[in-house]
Amino acid sequence: MTDLVLANATLVDGRRVDVFINDGLIESVDAADATGATTPSEQHNLGGALLLPAFAEPHAHLDKALSGDRITNRTGDLMGAIDAWMGALPSITITDMIERANTALDMYIGNGVTAIRTHSDIGEGIGLRSVEALTEVRDTNRADVDIEICGLIMYPLAGTAGSYNRRLLTEAIDLGLDLVGGVPALDPDPAANIATTLDAAEEASLPVDLHIDETIDPDVLTLEVLARQVIDRGFPNPITASHCVSLGMQTPARQREVAMLVAEAGISVIANPQTNLFLQGWGVEAATPRGLTAIEALHEAGVTVAGGGDNVQDPFNLVGRADPLETASLLVSAGHLSPIEALAAVSSEARRVMGLSTTIETGNPADLVAVTAPSTQAAIASGGTARRTYKAGRLTGSSEQSVRRFRG
Ligand SMILES: [Zn+2]
Repeated sequence: MTDLVLANATLVDGRRVDVFINDGLIESVDAADATGATTPSEQHNLGGALLLPAFAEPHAHLDKALSGDRITNRTGDLMGAIDAWMGALPSITITDMIERANTALDMYIGNGVTAIRTHSDIGEGIGLRSVEALTEVRDTNRADVDIEICGLIMYPLAGTAGSYNRRLLTEAIDLGLDLVGGVPALDPDPAANIATTLDAAEEASLPVDLHIDETIDPDVLTLEVLARQVIDRGFPNPITASHCVSLGMQTPARQREVAMLVAEAGISVIANPQTNLFLQGWGVEAATPRGLTAIEALHEAGVTVAGGGDNVQDPFNLVGRADPLETASLLVSAGHLSPIEALAAVSSEARRVMGLSTTIETGNPADLVAVTAPSTQAAIASGGTARRTYKAGRLTGSSEQSVRRFRG
């Protein structure tokens, strides 16, 4: 017995298909209108809508989301955002973070997302409150969305000065982190920060996702330090470098050189066009840089590159709709990806970074998004396109109404 058929779906390659779903998995993908082997208990006619592997948001900050109306970034740049956030920490309670995170989740799910990797601040001023809030958010929303929590440990991390942060990281891992992260370029000793992070992640058998080189200063290039350390020690777990802004400021030859190292190290890269466009380039009065990583060089080297939305209406990015198609649109206009590449960056490639299935094939989880649009280009160009989000073959959200809210 088939649970559900998604009829009249259009795949990215143009095929019109019916997708049969049983027990949360894709049972078969048949030409549309072929007589199915079994009778479904339910059928949704997608009317030719584009059907994709569900969007994944590989880089979010659910603890900060939707706080921008009450926390002011006075300089607009990264340090202004960090100062504003740190100054507001006494007012950031666990309840507050849970409420804002759940509101953001409704937005993400309505926009077609079934998996989110969120960073979670750990350090002085916030302690473990964010980890406590987001582990609860992760665990209470399991049916609708797969959430990974990456501990964003503050700096310094190495030596005597880093002992407090290292102890917090150990406690956070015990609370249930899914990955270890951090901001090595802002540490007084970036190489030691990276080594300490890799040590902790290896001991806990956890993957790593670091905020790397969120600066247009070409002299800062910790991505290369990370790649060499990963290669030298043979780091065994999946590893991601987010942002990598300063790679985009190197000469083409240097970009290729570092991209080859990143490929050899097996590091995936997440480009974050929206937050980078917002935070980078303040004070540069002419030919303001876009602040994006060197996507083309990374692609040519064979690196997996995904697109992440990063911040949503907080001091690090005042705008943002929690919509991967907004990220894809920026990857087209600011990053010069083709529409098909941009869609892949927020769908299959974002899912690949998170270790999820990347294709619509028999046996894969039925985590899918249907976008009502006549072409891939139109799907990205028309910001308000209608969506239907399926998690394990169950409708979890749509842009017409929040299924989650009406379900109560
Ligand atoms: Zn981030």
